[in-house]
Amino acid sequence: MKLVFATNNKNKLAEVQKMLPDTVELLSLNDINCFDDIEETATTLDGNAKIKANHITEKFEYNCFADDTGLEVESLNGAPGVYSARYAGEPANTENNMQKLLTELNEKDNRSAQFRTSLCLNLNGEQFLFNGICKGKILTQKQGEKGFGYDPIFQPEGFDKSFAQMTSEEKNIISHRGLAIQQLITFLINLK
Ligand code: IMP
Repeated sequence: MKLVFATNNKNKLAEVQKMLPDTVELLSLNDINCFDDIEETATTLDGNAKIKANHITEKFEYNCFADDTGLEVESLNGAPGVYSARYAGEPANTENNMQKLLTELNEKDNRSAQFRTSLCLNLNGEQFLFNGICKGKILTQKQGEKGFGYDPIFQPEGFDKSFAQMTSEEKNIISHRGLAIQQLITFLINLK
């Protein structure tokens, strides 16, 4: 079975292909000649994942899955959430996003937060949603050099280091995206 992952991120593609059974051939957006700028206009992560997956299925007629991730901070009522990539405005800038979040939390005692990945699978005319959550807290300053996005200021529950101080293997086992992908893979493996 051919299955499109609505991304061109080589790391994500390689990681998922390794976990899938050999019967599933994973294709990227480039592989299907999709160079569209798919606008993520929904106000929820589920909504954006659906927009991306539906675009591929409707225009290219492939089975497909798409993901969308946000960082949800408890004392900010779930912000930045679906707006995580552009929290500090356009153009998207990781350093500015982290700085804005640290400033917002300056006076707050509650620093609890979670990453959430929504994953939408369109398979043979049916739609399935999976969610992966990683709970933790926002640190008071950046720690570590690895990873991307908010990794230097996010410490997952049960660990005394940030995501940016973990190897990608360590992070994938507990991360929001890793957990959502695990659910998808279990689902695909168990398909009759
Ligand atoms: P996307 O939906 O994977 O593009 O993620 C949206 C935004 O959330 C990214 O631009 C990052 O700012 C942030 N983000 C997503 N996943 C992670 C992660 O694993 N670590 C840190 N930041 C992340």
